[in-house]
Amino acid sequence: MQNPNTLWIKHPLATLSPAYAGGVVITENRITELVPAGQTPQTPVDEVFDASQHVLLPGLINAHHHFYQTLTRAHPVALNKALFSWLTSLYPVWAKLRPEMVEVSTQIALAELLLSGCSTASDHHYLFPRGLEDAIDIQVAQAQQLGVRVHLTRGSMSLGKEQGGLPPQSTVQSEDVIMADSERLIRRYHDHTDGAMIRVALAPCSPFSVSTELMRMSAELAEKHRVQLHTHLAETHDETAFCQKMFGMRPVDYLESVGWLSNRVWLAHGIHFNEQEIGRLGQVGVGIAHCPSSNMLLASGQCPTLDLEAAGCPVGIGVDGSASNDGSNMMTEVRQALLLQRLRYGAEKITHQKVLDWATNGSARCLGRDDVGDIAVGKQADLALFRLDDIQFAGAGDPLAALVLCGAQRADRMMVAGRWRVTDGTVCGLDIEALKARQRELAAQLV
Ligand SMILES: [Zn+2]
Repeated sequence: MQNPNTLWIKHPLATLSPAYAGGVVITENRITELVPAGQTPQTPVDEVFDASQHVLLPGLINAHHHFYQTLTRAHPVALNKALFSWLTSLYPVWAKLRPEMVEVSTQIALAELLLSGCSTASDHHYLFPRGLEDAIDIQVAQAQQLGVRVHLTRGSMSLGKEQGGLPPQSTVQSEDVIMADSERLIRRYHDHTDGAMIRVALAPCSPFSVSTELMRMSAELAEKHRVQLHTHLAETHDETAFCQKMFGMRPVDYLESVGWLSNRVWLAHGIHFNEQEIGRLGQVGVGIAHCPSSNMLLASGQCPTLDLEAAGCPVGIGVDGSASNDGSNMMTEVRQALLLQRLRYGAEKITHQKVLDWATNGSARCLGRDDVGDIAVGKQADLALFRLDDIQFAGAGDPLAALVLCGAQRADRMMVAGRWRVTDGTVCGLDIEALKARQRELAAQLV
């Protein structure tokens, strides 16, 4: 059952689309046949997995995260604060990160994501204090070990306090160092091909931690190597005020002035836009990673998701860093998106299918991919299978709606690129108790 050549995931309890109500056939790493309700595959299969107790979804795709922040969940210095004071409290703590901490927190975040139904994870790592120059290399190794598909962004900060920015000087790097390392990482790890397990993107952190020059240079380098660009934007009113004071313009005008209005770009948060700005973002297809838990926890605001989508922006879902969530549970985040967005757009428009579409197809489009995020012939075999036998589902009617409405927490099985990575609710090949113990020990060193 581990990794057969051709596998039929047979007769799932429920699916996102009726096109594969009878299940899917997987050959090696791809989906090769969709089976209609009540039928059997046309392809001969080596093995069958009985999914009659499972809701079958495309693997969820996390469009924004900071893995290292799992070490500073509910950190005492950061409690009950909005973004700027939350950040300035945590920067000195994060400046103490060491390679072992990046290794362990990456494993924790990836395991947590996998267990919550996520098969593709993007991460935004922007801290490279002395001794931590290899942070992304460490993340690559952990992702390969766990078999999660990743989009690792080479984050950066170059605008320290001395230049009028927010972060302490010890956490920022020069533009030249950042560019050289970005190019090294793209050449070493970025895989352009269909089905890529590792892609690299460039991610200057935010308008208040990055120089104008670095934004421009990053856009040029991304263009040269055809990689995606990512940053935080329009998260809070403080940020808008900062941009107006520092650059004499609002965040979207700033983005345009540094050559970032392009479909190569996806933004985390995207909350405080006016109507005209939404139109400009939509026209070029800038993607938006909606991060509902973080936006509620830091009291940042509500992303205008449906307006952005109507204008032409792909909308995905991200759990955001575990210090502003404070978890990495992708399925929980889908529920949060439904609840928060219903407050803005009402119950008829924000359905459980809608938020699941954001967390799969929408996130894939943010990451610039068309080989994941959907169950269709030719797509990667990235699948999430959830059982509904925990107590919170007892008495539930519609199985697909139950996943979102009753608050599913944990996938029973996860397949990434045709290989089982979670079985019986457990990450394959990982001693999770030992990992949790190491993480607790390292986190204690940061308190
Ligand atoms: Zn973030």
